Amino acid sequence: MQQLTYASFVESCIEELKALQEEFKNKYNVNSYENWFYNQVKGLLTFNTGQNEINFRYEEVGTFSTTSNTWKWAWDNENTLPEVKENIGRVKDFGTESNFNKLTNGYFESSEEEAWEFTAIATKLLNGIGVYRPVSDHLMIFMVILDHLDNQEAQDIKDRYVECADHEYRRRAFVCKHLNRQHKVGFEEAFETVENMELSDDDDLQAWCAECELVREREGEWSDNSMAFAEIKLVCELCYFEMKELNLGHR
Ligand SMILES: [Zn+2]
Ligand SMILES: [Zn+2]
Repeated sequence: MQQLTYASFVESCIEELKALQEEFKNKYNVNSYENWFYNQVKGLLTFNTGQNEINFRYEEVGTFSTTSNTWKWAWDNENTLPEVKENIGRVKDFGTESNFNKLTNGYFESSEEEAWEFTAIATKLLNGIGVYRPVSDHLMIFMVILDHLDNQEAQDIKDRYVECADHEYRRRAFVCKHLNRQHKVGFEEAFETVENMELSDDDDLQAWCAECELVREREGEWSDNSMAFAEIKLVCELCYFEMKELNLGHR
């Protein structure tokens, strides 16, 4: 069997990407929208004009710095949030298997052209449907678009996050109205939690105070009465763990 060379692999990835990107452009016409923005916390890339919007899930491939002419893979970048680099490690694994050093070194001198090559490779390995490359100051951010979300799917993702005055965008959590970040009131949880834990779509962080626990026990369950007493409110995940820390003194 002929061994795969890096050069021929890159070439085939670039060819595939050109075709994919053409298809992507024709299908979604993203350039016709007035605005675009991405949200690392939610892993969403959004284009809109007024109320009319289109959403995609994306993964960050890496960034190219036009000041230092260096490439940094997203898996090597601690500023890149986990939500947008869940899969990019596959490119590194592939590089290890194939002995392609450029896929396994995290950070090195490079060029914009090469950055596109890496993005083409990532698109192939992650089964992307297209790419996007916003620029932020001196950084070119290379993204693989994983899939298109309809408005309901996008809304479901957005709903899982809240904007907190102290912590910006975070995952949502629910607590009773008595829990706060100043005074100990006890802390009971629906299930054992740790910060940044994986949560399935049906699970939310939920906690309530000692008094709510008493009412709940008296009622035997979360009834209309205990719910009315608790008046569950929405907080961000970080606030939730600050409350837990305050009350339980450990994380
Ligand atoms: Zn309470
Ligand atoms: Zn918060």
